[in-house]
Amino acid sequence: MLAPLRRILEAVDRAPSLDAALAVLVHEVKDAIGADVCSVYLTDPDRREHVLLATDGLPPDAVGRVRVPLNRGLIGRAAERADIVNLDDAHTHPCYLKLNETGDDQYHGFLGVPIIQHRKVLGVLVLRQRAPRRFADDEVTFVVTLAVQLAAAIALARGNGELGRLSQGPGLPSRHLAGVAASPGVGIGTAVVVYPPADLEAVPDRPAADPDAEVAAFQQAVAAVAAEIGRLAERMSGTLRDEDQALFGAWRLMLESESFVADTIARIRAGNWAQGALRDTVANLVAEFDRLDDPYLRERGADVGDLGRQVLLRLQQGAAATPGEDYPGQTVLVGDDISAMQIAAVPRESLVGLVSRRGSASSHVAILARGIGIPAALGVMDLPVSRLEGWPLIVDGYRGRVYVQPSALVRAEYGRLIVEEQAFSAELDNLRGLPAETTDGFALPLYLNTGLVLEQRPLGIEESAGVGLYRTELPFMVRDRFPGEETQRNHYRQLLETFAPRPVTIRTLDVGGDKSLPYFPVEESNPFLGWRGIRITRDHPEIFMTQVRAMLRADVGLGNLQLLLPMITNTDEVDDALALIQRACDELHEEGHPVRLPPVGVMIETPAAVYQAEALARRVDFLSIGTNDLIQYLLAVDRNNARVAGLYDVFHPAVLRALIQVVEAARAYGREVSVCGELAGDPRATPLLLAMGVHSLSMSAGSLLRVKGVVRSISRTRAKEILRKALFCETGACVRQLLMDALEEIGLGGLVRPGR
Ligand code: PEP
Ligand code: MG
Repeated sequence: MLAPLRRILEAVDRAPSLDAALAVLVHEVKDAIGADVCSVYLTDPDRREHVLLATDGLPPDAVGRVRVPLNRGLIGRAAERADIVNLDDAHTHPCYLKLNETGDDQYHGFLGVPIIQHRKVLGVLVLRQRAPRRFADDEVTFVVTLAVQLAAAIALARGNGELGRLSQGPGLPSRHLAGVAASPGVGIGTAVVVYPPADLEAVPDRPAADPDAEVAAFQQAVAAVAAEIGRLAERMSGTLRDEDQALFGAWRLMLESESFVADTIARIRAGNWAQGALRDTVANLVAEFDRLDDPYLRERGADVGDLGRQVLLRLQQGAAATPGEDYPGQTVLVGDDISAMQIAAVPRESLVGLVSRRGSASSHVAILARGIGIPAALGVMDLPVSRLEGWPLIVDGYRGRVYVQPSALVRAEYGRLIVEEQAFSAELDNLRGLPAETTDGFALPLYLNTGLVLEQRPLGIEESAGVGLYRTELPFMVRDRFPGEETQRNHYRQLLETFAPRPVTIRTLDVGGDKSLPYFPVEESNPFLGWRGIRITRDHPEIFMTQVRAMLRADVGLGNLQLLLPMITNTDEVDDALALIQRACDELHEEGHPVRLPPVGVMIETPAAVYQAEALARRVDFLSIGTNDLIQYLLAVDRNNARVAGLYDVFHPAVLRALIQVVEAARAYGREVSVCGELAGDPRATPLLLAMGVHSLSMSAGSLLRVKGVVRSISRTRAKEILRKALFCETGACVRQLLMDALEEIGLGGLVRPGR
């Protein structure tokens, strides 16, 4: 059944709308299995019913009319149990419910397969047979495979409102797309889609403002690629076999063919811009080639894809990839993935929200969003990115939700929340300049995490006790080679001067994982368990030494540098690093620089470092807990993988125990411990960290006042009671509830949820 399966999947994939996809699907499945009816029901939890969405076999006017109560009948059973119902004779089953409108009693055989996305039942795919028939195993698995694909298409259609006519009644709340709450706040604005260059699939739909200009740009791009092929053919002539040389001619023919040029122009005339029109033309052509039996001809589909990318590149070189400087006043950046550079390109005052399909609460984009105080919902896996350009959106960064084309009701509700939020931030503003001290006089200094954006003056300078974590990766990322000692010295000097005399903890290079350098590619199948952080710099002492020398020289005359080592998993790494730091110091003395040996700390961000915290504490001056990585390694959950974001539980009981173990190990050696992962900026965690005896917290600028609000509203004694109770919890949910209750009790529930 592989061939029909592939054919159906391709047809569904190519279909321009969900309706068209469903029409193909029900027809083809009915045919392939030889059933009498194939139908798709959509589950509508608001109306508590399943509604017939498409059918081949039942009267066409039953679509949208036949509605089965939520948990009734065999369809209800398949949905409720999220399981397959396969019956020789449906009539004999106690759950059988006769559906009058469909002439149901003529059918005996029944197969119901739930359509599930992320554990949620979206509908049921149903096959019926007049004669009694139990469907064979391979037929069932065939339908299950299709139901999985269909789930993605339905979720997408729900997200972009395509299903509104069936599933929404007037006055019902708008549907939303669910992702991960990555940066608190609410943003209401217009979608601007960002996407990587020369990636056809990532190109969004966008209305052609001036179709004539779009057509002209497309024709110029085609001509440029054709000319390039001509030049290449000339250069290669004589060195290739004749049949290979002929390929150049074939490419030109393809490029200048009616189906390439005229189809794209027709799509532009129909309203899409040149890049979007090109994307659809290429997708159609590739699919046509894919359907051919001859493997040689099928290969030519790849050539069309290549040509399409070449033309796209020319188009993008001619026009800015995003609408240039013209960001709407209220821009919500939308992308499959969003980079720091794409965020930096939007004027800060125009940016009101971030939404992406990838990423999670602890990915670096999320950290950046919190740092600059922009609401973000990441890991919104069903986000129909390419179709969102110009659409009105609401981003709920508290709950990780996105509303596409929100109803007036939802808009008004969120508008009210924004007003409340502004009042709340004004209240928080009153905390500026006050010490971060508990009601019983215990000080918990709050430091700043910075370095993810190249700011002139990092936000939160006045409010922080200094910098608890300066990530040095970005200055390395924005260059086309490793920055030299002098460049780095100037950079660090500026930072140290900005905060002097307050301490600034600069971390040595932590590339690898999800942070790569364009000029130092590290290709690994499992980068978070691979060559990253200290592992790279230990293998490249020249990179490490240059960086440390630059830091030590920057510190001369200021004396506020602290040095931090990332991704430590064993004591050898620390011993080697300490030896190199000592060597850098000695060398610089010999060269006449009056440098000093700064305090050195290690990051505790791997389980190994937790278990060896005492041995590490003995070697260094302080410990800094990087909860972002520590949680991903403790819980075996990739911090960037939206699919498992629900398992990335910052309040998992194992996390609390690991933190306590580190604090106690440091205490045994009289060392200070700070927390510099994102947990430090989560106001819910403040009572726990305070009670554990953590000495300081380091966080994004946007979190400073929120956390200070909690510190100043609670006593250490009360915090210890909360921790004692939390340690009885066996789930993260239990800990979270306890902490939410505690925040409500001190009147600060509004810090972590919308509305108060
Ligand atoms: C961490 O892992 O918690 C941390 C602070 O480092 P980064 O987020 O840069 O990996
Ligand atoms: Mg880390």
